[in-house]
Amino acid sequence: MKAAASLRVLLVEDEAELAASIIDFLEGEGHRLDYAADGRQGLDLALAGAHDIVLLDLRLPRLDGLEVCRQLRANAGRPLPILMLTARDTLGDKISGFGAGADDYLTKPFALEELLLRCNALGRRFRPDDARPLTVGELVIDRGRRTAARAGRTLALHHTPFDILVALAEAYPAVITRSELSDRIWGDEPPSSDALATHIYNLRQALDRPFGKPMLKTLHGVGLRLEVPT
Ligand code: CA
Repeated sequence: MKAAASLRVLLVEDEAELAASIIDFLEGEGHRLDYAADGRQGLDLALAGAHDIVLLDLRLPRLDGLEVCRQLRANAGRPLPILMLTARDTLGDKISGFGAGADDYLTKPFALEELLLRCNALGRRFRPDDARPLTVGELVIDRGRRTAARAGRTLALHHTPFDILVALAEAYPAVITRSELSDRIWGDEPPSSDALATHIYNLRQALDRPFGKPMLKTLHGVGLRLEVPT
């Protein structure tokens, strides 16, 4: 079976031992984790970051989980799935959790495998288009199979150039800056800036070189975007 797409996960949890085991496990499954130990820091990270999902403890120092949830719903400005983690499992807490905008709910103690399944399900639910091909002009990308073809010819793309192409196609016709690309692909641990340039070069070789008209456009000092040649 194919692995689920890698998710950028924000974990907001003040129990250090539990947090460490969640981080170890989910990173071992290919997801990327950011971590906050209190509600205020969690809210700031969630509002600033490009996370696919937030795992939010209910009882947190500085800002309660329900309040973090409410403020995220009011201010995130985009669909952001929230999975509440809590030691309390009363019906009242579930209702208030969903009322504050949580999408799912997991009661402690839980199995890490169960947490993984819920994360993957929420990730899929909020990225439903991943199952369908993404089309830009004569370019067709299958994000599930991680293949791309232009004018019916399969493009030979390694992992990172493929991810760059997907980011550009999802943003089409908008421009993506190099720092947005770097953030999307490597999170807050980017390699040297040369690495991004090399991957972009490789993408250009695969996407444009065999074809007469280029699709990948560089806007100097701004970023990159795809264009459909006319
Ligand atoms: Ca707690």
